[in-house]
Amino acid sequence: MILPGATLGMLGGGQLGRMFVSAARTLGYRVMVLDPDPLSPAGEIADVHLRADYLDAVSLLRMGRECAAITTEFENVPAQTLRTLALHCPVKPGAEAVEIAQNRVAEKTWLREHGFATAPFAVIASADEVTSACAQIGFPAVLKVSRFGYDGKGQARVASVAEAQAAFAGMGGEVCVLEQMLTLECELSVVLGRNAIGECALYPVAENLHEAGILDFSIVPARVPSALAQQAQTVAQAIAQQLAYCGVMAVEFFVVNNGQLVVNEMAPRPHNSGHYTLDACLTSQFEMQVRTLCNLPIGATRQHTPAVMVNLLGELWGDSQPNWAALLQHPQAKLHLYGKQSARPGRKMGHFTCVDAQLERALALAQTIRAQL
Ligand code: ATP
Ligand code: MG
Repeated sequence: MILPGATLGMLGGGQLGRMFVSAARTLGYRVMVLDPDPLSPAGEIADVHLRADYLDAVSLLRMGRECAAITTEFENVPAQTLRTLALHCPVKPGAEAVEIAQNRVAEKTWLREHGFATAPFAVIASADEVTSACAQIGFPAVLKVSRFGYDGKGQARVASVAEAQAAFAGMGGEVCVLEQMLTLECELSVVLGRNAIGECALYPVAENLHEAGILDFSIVPARVPSALAQQAQTVAQAIAQQLAYCGVMAVEFFVVNNGQLVVNEMAPRPHNSGHYTLDACLTSQFEMQVRTLCNLPIGATRQHTPAVMVNLLGELWGDSQPNWAALLQHPQAKLHLYGKQSARPGRKMGHFTCVDAQLERALALAQTIRAQL
């Protein structure tokens, strides 16, 4: 067990890192954040903020020496960084799992090879592979860049070979996957924590509503039959187990064809759809990340109140801030802001969660507040 007072390392300084820092400090740990951005949301509240590149040898050495264990908040941290740090101290999740999750080709191939259903896909590594991939997948389809995509960025919906060719040309020579566009009944996600001795703690299933490729609302528990929710949890746990995963991870699912589950992608870190755990569960996903990192008892994921989480994106900010009074006057609405300076459209600036013993009331309140902001 890594005891409170120790220093924990966090790779990445975004809002997920910030909420980890907060949870770790609540438990009495110190946190060192590595992020090149001088204004990073996590760096700002960390004990130490190393403003350096993820491959900066001097910073990695310092982190490795001073931290008792290290984790990450984003999947695009170079696997080499994780390997270098692992020479000094435990790094969870490890490079192998992150390497799979950070590359759509590796991820979908791994899922298929391990028997998990994915949307039909084909890999496109060069322009002369576009036509055959289109013939294999059909239309409509989605072209997704294999690396560094997030929040629907690096994706294009295509309906013809010509569109696929144009979209591939626009991806800057990166390898892509062409994925069949599925008709979604809904989208679900499962966040879980798994520790070094293989204990797995599953959070309730979230139902996720997206707007323009970005998560908009998460409704928890998901309004799906309990057998389907259980099946999603079972699949998520099996994925974590087969990856020998240690830490917090999320699995995103599509529901298609009358309740069939298809794995969309996995995130080797806490997930936007798990933010409701801060206000509605006994252990938040960030405390879970601390617990699994430090070999503490794994903690209870039980949800004590139904919850609806709403993302607050940059476009809500005009010349002035959103109307926070409209939100804060409701005791059942909890505001979380990430301390980001500039509110660009599509940028995740914060979220709020509405809790209510009745899920439908939480949803109605969330919609009312969202419209008033
Ligand atoms: P995020 O970072 O928000 O998870 P991302 O950039 O990694 O997003 P995906 O999760 O692959 O992207 O896709 C974003 C959203 O686009 C999905 O949640 C879904 O709503 C839609 N989408 C993606 N792929 C498909 C598909 N094959 N069929 C139907 N809808 C899709
Ligand atoms: Mg996604």
